[in-house]
Amino acid sequence: MIARLETLAELDAWRTHLPAQKCAFVPTMGALHAGHMELVKVTKSLGLPVLVSVFVNPTQFGPNEDFARYPRTEAADIALLETHGADAVFLPRVEVVYPPGFASEVRVRGVSEGLCGAVRPGHFDGVATVVARLFGLIKPSHALFGEKDFQQLQVIRRMVADLALPVEVLGVPTVREADGLALSSRNRYLSLEERAIAPQLYITLQQAAASLQAGLDAASVVAQAAQSLRESGFGRVDYVAYTDAESLTPRTHYAPNGRLLAAAFLGKTRLIDNIAV
Ligand code: AMP
Repeated sequence: MIARLETLAELDAWRTHLPAQKCAFVPTMGALHAGHMELVKVTKSLGLPVLVSVFVNPTQFGPNEDFARYPRTEAADIALLETHGADAVFLPRVEVVYPPGFASEVRVRGVSEGLCGAVRPGHFDGVATVVARLFGLIKPSHALFGEKDFQQLQVIRRMVADLALPVEVLGVPTVREADGLALSSRNRYLSLEERAIAPQLYITLQQAAASLQAGLDAASVVAQAAQSLRESGFGRVDYVAYTDAESLTPRTHYAPNGRLLAAAFLGKTRLIDNIAV
């Protein structure tokens, strides 16, 4: 039976019974799918008790973003976590995460500033702050994040290194549909027509990777990729970028340990994806 924790007292009571006080942690915003379950599976392979949080963090959404309509599927989430062998689910109310008087903000400069950070001001401050707070409450020895949100993963790695937080951060490769579309809670917003176009994001990244490896310069490769996304039916393309995989600084030409990342709208839905190059 999965332990359902809502308050800090319940969380602390669960922690006192952990062998060696150790657990591994998977933060989520719920609307769970097979991508999240892959994180749970990898986490379980560490041989530690697994705690998954489900918290739609208001501070990482911009004023015109989808916080209000973000899918909330709590009962299904808990059932899925139980089936996949998670030991506990932490479902804090906003006041538990941000009690009266809460005044701190974690900002990770550099790696959070480009790409999604440039078009979603404050987003990664919200992410870093909530993850730091959850690390403080849960005190996990390990925390797992998906490469699907690659910039988020690098922001968290930088924060943990800079603040010497006693947690090991592990990244998990992106889980995809058979046609290549990265699983995302936001895919359920897509109409049938948009869903048919959506795999082009991954296909376009793969084509761009091949062009980079063939020696084309990054500026023309990413411009061509953005153009082909628009031709496929995407609307606003926030970015297509080729960067160093760790710092996420832009690169001009292919070199080892690079990453191609993109974000683009299909109708009202913003999709992101990235691949190693
Ligand atoms: P979210 O609920 O969207 O905040 O995601 C929670 C965690 O699951 C994050 O670390 C995500 O990167 C990860 N995640 C989401 N989708 C996928 C996916 N398709 N494959 C792997 N990890 C994922």
